[in-house]
This record gives sequence, structure tokens and C-alpha cells, in this order.
Amino acid sequence: MLAAACGTGTATAQAHSRDHAATGSATAAAATTRSPSTHRARRAPGAPAGAQATAARKPLAGKTIGIDPGHNGRNKDDPSYINKQIWNGRNWESCDTTGTETDGGYTEAKFNFNVASDLRGDLQQLGARVVLTRPDNRGVGPCVNRRARILNRAHSSVAIDIHADGGPASGRGFTVLEPVADGPNNHVIKSSIRFGSDVRSALLKYTRMPESDYYGHNGVILRDDLAGLNLATQPKILIETGNMRNATDARLLVQTWFQKRLALAFTHAILRFLTGRWGHV
Ligand code: ZN
Repeated sequence: MLAAACGTGTATAQAHSRDHAATGSATAAAATTRSPSTHRARRAPGAPAGAQATAARKPLAGKTIGIDPGHNGRNKDDPSYINKQIWNGRNWESCDTTGTETDGGYTEAKFNFNVASDLRGDLQQLGARVVLTRPDNRGVGPCVNRRARILNRAHSSVAIDIHADGGPASGRGFTVLEPVADGPNNHVIKSSIRFGSDVRSALLKYTRMPESDYYGHNGVILRDDLAGLNLATQPKILIETGNMRNATDARLLVQTWFQKRLALAFTHAILRFLTGRWGHV
């Protein structure tokens, strides 16, 4: 099911959730994040070696960044909520899906939240305000249209939906999913494509994950069937970071060090997008 990457949606839900049943009743709240104390600390790109950047020099001061860690840890417990239909700006699609998992049972929802948490910590060190669409990995939902609204209302400068795919076992690599103009997102199409290019470049530059060899072209595909992209009013892409059903990708995706590396790559991409230059590691 190539067309249906882990993006969700009616058509997509099949691919995405081939292995997962859909679910969930509801409660994830928008979480404006605070201290990165729970994160594994590391000097962020752009920060001077051996010292904290001063407030005045933090490159993302004054910026708000939106992060949507796809799915949620308990979506499988509430199918009636997760399967309810929402309007995605162009069509009806499911509220959410459970997400995929590796053959070893490591869930995409957990992966997405871990990478999002690492990314939040990196961005906060650079002075950004960070808004997540769910506060932990122990809840259900929220629906994909509400996730989009949370990030829109936060007036994010840029936003990223973090996922991993449930593709064919033989397929490897990442794909950047980019929006198609549909009304609400018309004015952020060009900027989203530019951000998508930065994300693609950063993944190739800073991680071992290759471009997908089974989905999209050169690591990129346009999608007009996802609420997260259709309803966005800030530059936004959805990243399928790798294929959890592929043994080689899965070995990387479940590792803490690799999750941190991915967060670092996304941090670089955001810095590049907002400041016009790559940071220093
Ligand atoms: Zn997903």
C-alpha cells in the first residue's frame, strides 16, 4: 500500500494501520512545553561550545515552533473515538489511527513522542517556544483536525508532524509529505515546500536514513488528503522518518541515539528555514 503511508486518512488509514487497529477516546491536550529537564541533554546546534548561549544570542528567541507527534499510546483502546470521521478541508477522514510498529512491537506512537520530546529540548535551548499537540504518550487522540488547530492557534512560525511509516518490509527510507493548496493552506504552500527541502537535506546530511526507495520520489511526495497538511496555516510538512516494517530501518528507529540524531536533524532544518543558514554542531 504505497499510496497510504503512515499519514492517516480514510484511504491512508489502511496502510498506516494495516497492523494497527484504530482507536481512542479523547483527551490529549495542547501542551505548551516548559523545561527540557526530562530530556537527554546535549548542546544544541547553534549554541557555543562549552557554554549556554546568552538570551540575546539565541537564534530562535521569539519564535514559536509547532510539533505534532503522530498518534497516541492508547489510541487502540478507544476505536469509536478514533474512527469517527472528521473534515480535513477536502474530504472526510478518521479522527486518528493507532500508527504502526516494528516487528518487535516498538510502537510508532512512542517513537514519534520520543523524537518530538528531543526536538522540543533542542529548540528550547535555542530560545524557541515549543507547542506540542499532546502532552505524553499515555492518552487517546486528539483528532488530526484538532492537532492542526492547536498548532495554528499557537501562531507557530513553522510546524512538523512526526511519523514513521508502516510500508512493505522490503522498502527503506524517509519521505517528506508536503501540502497541496486547498484554501486554508494556500498561503503556506511555497514556504512548506521550502521547509520540506530543508528537512530532506538535513536528514541526508545528519543521519544515516536514506530517501525512501518505495514511496514518493527523491524522498518527497505531495499529499492532499491529510488534515494536518490541508488545514495548516503555517509552513508545515509531515515526515515519515523511516519504515518501521523494514528490519534495517527499524533497528535504527528504536535506538535512543538515533532518535536524538533525528531530532538534531529536524532542529537544523528549522534553523535553516527560519534563519537561512545551517547551525553549528
Ligand atoms: Zn503515523
